[in-house]
Amino acid sequence: MRLMRFPAGLLAGLSLTVLSGAAVAAQPGTVTVDSAGVVRYIEKGQPPVVIHLTVEQAQSRRAAQGNHGSHGKPGGGSQTNDLIYNGGTGGVGVETAPAIYLVLWGSQWNNNDPSGEAGILESFLGSMGGSKWLNTVTQYCQKVSSGTIYCNGAGTPAGNQSGMLVNFWYDNGSAAPARPKQSDFAAEAVRAASHFGNTAAGSNDSTQYVIATATGNNSSGFGRQYCAYHSYTTSSYGDVAYTNLPYITDAGASCGANFNGLGADAGITIVEGHEAAETITDQFPSGGWLDSGGSEIGDKCAWISSGQGASADVSLGGNTYPVQSLWSNAFNGGAGGCVLSY
Ligand SMILES: [Zn+2]
Repeated sequence: MRLMRFPAGLLAGLSLTVLSGAAVAAQPGTVTVDSAGVVRYIEKGQPPVVIHLTVEQAQSRRAAQGNHGSHGKPGGGSQTNDLIYNGGTGGVGVETAPAIYLVLWGSQWNNNDPSGEAGILESFLGSMGGSKWLNTVTQYCQKVSSGTIYCNGAGTPAGNQSGMLVNFWYDNGSAAPARPKQSDFAAEAVRAASHFGNTAAGSNDSTQYVIATATGNNSSGFGRQYCAYHSYTTSSYGDVAYTNLPYITDAGASCGANFNGLGADAGITIVEGHEAAETITDQFPSGGWLDSGGSEIGDKCAWISSGQGASADVSLGGNTYPVQSLWSNAFNGGAGGCVLSY
């Protein structure tokens, strides 16, 4: 059933739209923002990406949807908003023991990190495993039938063990492309797999590479059309999952600076927390857990400013980080909702 909601003609149209403008940094509209969801094809020959909407996009989309996709209002037991398993990609749907590698990509990082994003990311990714905040992911599993909503102990659940940041790498011997494309991130993820020795069959099934670009060195469309995205690439080391994580503070309030009064750096951990949780529950998009509209565990709860599921500071490993809530199918009597702990 997966991808049935994306007619082939529509996908071809999106690809052409993107390719025609992909190299032009200042041109809006390189990613078609529409009601078809956040799973997008943005480069010919590449798997889909799942984009993280900007603050403005997410809030206008939520307003347009009214109570559909509501983030925790009384649901009367309906499961129509819940995440559904899509059967996996090559049998893999979730990360059963998440292993995260952070890559600070390019010599542009050298003596050039005005917001201290590298240190914040290392600390945050090193602290979130085992937390109540991330524990929502353990509701979701793989090796169950497509269409499953509740694993109920069947299959193998997504993991939430401590110490999931395995290592980080300043890949700064040469410059990254000035405006990296999806295929550039894919190639860097494969280089990272090689660098870290994850080259054996299956060694990337529960692994994600967070490819962080330096300030001023972000991909086209960042801050207007998305704050980040995650995807995967095929390789001789198996399928490899990665996130394109721009230098978040470059986008200011559009990607979370001072969101909900949480500070100028709030977007760094809000956005990466969203991406990490989504990769854990949809390892190789879109074979994992998405709702009927194509939104993932983070998308459904992005940029909520008040009420149930509003972004807030949480304590992870003794430090405090701003995060967004995550979608829990179990909340609200099975109607689901956005929660900060599970
Ligand atoms: Zn997302």
